[in-house]
Amino acid sequence: MNQVSASTRPARVARGARFSVGVAAFAIVALVVAFVPFVVPLTPYVLNIFMQAATYAIAVLGMTVVLGYTGQINLAQASFFGLGAYAVGLGTVVLGLNFWVTLLLGIGLATVAGFVLGLTTLRLGGHYLAMITISFQQIFDLVMVNWAGVTQGPDGIAGIGRPSLFGLQFTDDRMYLVLCLAFLYAAVAFVWWLPHTRIGRAMRAVRENELAAEVTGVHTLRVKVTAFTLSAGLAGVGGAFYAAGFAYISPDNFNFARSIEFLTMTLLGGADSAFGGVVGTGLLIVLPEWLRFLKDIYLAVYGLAVILIMVFLPAGIWGLVRGRFVRATAATVDVDSIAPLSLDVPTDNPAPILTVENIAKHFGGVKAVDGISLEVARGTVHTLIGPNGSGKTTTLNVLNGIYKPTSGGIKLDGIDITGMSPHQRAGLGIGRTFQNIRLFASMSVVENVMVGAQRANNPIGNTRAALHHRALSALKFVGMAEQMHVTVKNLPYGHQRLIEIARALAGHPSFLLLDEPAAGLNLTEKKNLGELLKRLKGHGMTIFLIEHDISLIEQVSDTITVLNFGKKIAEGKPDEVMSHPEVVAAYLGENAHADA
Ligand code: ADP
Ligand code: MG
Repeated sequence: MNQVSASTRPARVARGARFSVGVAAFAIVALVVAFVPFVVPLTPYVLNIFMQAATYAIAVLGMTVVLGYTGQINLAQASFFGLGAYAVGLGTVVLGLNFWVTLLLGIGLATVAGFVLGLTTLRLGGHYLAMITISFQQIFDLVMVNWAGVTQGPDGIAGIGRPSLFGLQFTDDRMYLVLCLAFLYAAVAFVWWLPHTRIGRAMRAVRENELAAEVTGVHTLRVKVTAFTLSAGLAGVGGAFYAAGFAYISPDNFNFARSIEFLTMTLLGGADSAFGGVVGTGLLIVLPEWLRFLKDIYLAVYGLAVILIMVFLPAGIWGLVRGRFVRATAATVDVDSIAPLSLDVPTDNPAPILTVENIAKHFGGVKAVDGISLEVARGTVHTLIGPNGSGKTTTLNVLNGIYKPTSGGIKLDGIDITGMSPHQRAGLGIGRTFQNIRLFASMSVVENVMVGAQRANNPIGNTRAALHHRALSALKFVGMAEQMHVTVKNLPYGHQRLIEIARALAGHPSFLLLDEPAAGLNLTEKKNLGELLKRLKGHGMTIFLIEHDISLIEQVSDTITVLNFGKKIAEGKPDEVMSHPEVVAAYLGENAHADA
């Protein structure tokens, strides 16, 4: 264990130092901002602008979670903000409840609504999700305006009081601003910390490549629902403080235009960062004030400024700042001290690890897989070959749950997995790579592999340190540890293929599905891949391989199954199969067969 803890020290120290500097800078700026109103005489108007910015920013931080981290569009954030505000407004004014009780009520209402809206991501993504959230926002609007008996309709609610805490009254604008800032700072800290947690990494994985995340063992629906719920909860907090801050609320404070404003603030500052959300909110609230001297044309200039920032800074304002900072502090890696990957999979059980019974997968009229049965023996490399379009990838997709078979059954280690989702199968020990590499492109190499390492019932636990160690060991195994800090999209193709294998290995698989891992590799890389596969077999790993490269196939395969038009046409040891007349015919055409 000593060796393991020593292994990541250089990287950890650099990260730790950067983190401390970050925390210190955050604390200083936070304190200065909170003290400004007590030192500089500010008009109530300016204090109101600060208050608005602080409460909006909490809602925008919710957008950072759902849109920035998880990549799910949400055009209903103002309605969650409104739920928080109305809970406080109606709760304190009409029902006479204590502010803090209504705050909790508001958070509860908003999170329940966010949870329900999040569930719609089960079937709908992208444009459809945008439509669903817009509809939700419109329904909220209609209810608030028309259900006047309860919501007081378009007239809104007036006379909302400020809270007190431990005998402290927050009636003074400056004191109330400090209270809002305290909650804002807590929200910033939470959203800042989130990406470094298991769920936060899973969120970013879903954003980068949902299918790969699911296959890597991430319960993608749960992650998306969690993101919506957290996002709505934060909006509820912001709305609650907004209501108490301004004493008056009405439906037009929480309409679709406000949701768009929250979206713009998120994108403007940089959707992928907590500080981006705050910067974007501040700018979008302050900018119109600065531009007021322009009189009639101020709105046009304001719109133009927003467009220009978005066009020239696609990662937002904070994205630009962070890009500079991170590049300057990349750490070196001491590969020798990384612990070797522990992989050993028991091979003493003589039963086949995988049994496939008569599976079929039809796409409309296309019988991509048309009744295939096979068994994969433990600790072997079983290779699936066949001409393009013969159903190899579809077979793999059925094996790991991306497709449900039209008919037939699959057993892994005697367990019927036919109806399981990909993440459940990953949890049982199926790892996989894709023909057209699917990595989490804008995450670092080590983060990609950490997503692979984390899972339910993880034998090593899911602490950050354990996942980090596991990821480094997996990277070392494939020879990619030096690249741990590189953002994946900046790596050459051959390296990306290895990272994908490392990501699969990190999750403690016992059965590895590799879809054309040699495609696009040069000769040296192919040779290294062959060595890697043999090393894996040496550890007892069972590999189900799709491959075209004949020399690699002959080098590593124990058994070969040949598909043509979705059916198995041959199976056996490499030399038998390669000289089988039907295989020669399928590969080289009938004439070649005749010649042979
Ligand atoms: P291989 O990997 O052997 O090249 P595939 O399994 O990718 O072949 O494809 C087998 C057949 O199934 C092809 O005719 C292909 O067009 C079809 N196919 C694969 N996936 C889909 C899909 N999602 N929808 C419709 N047809 C598909
Ligand atoms: Mg294929």
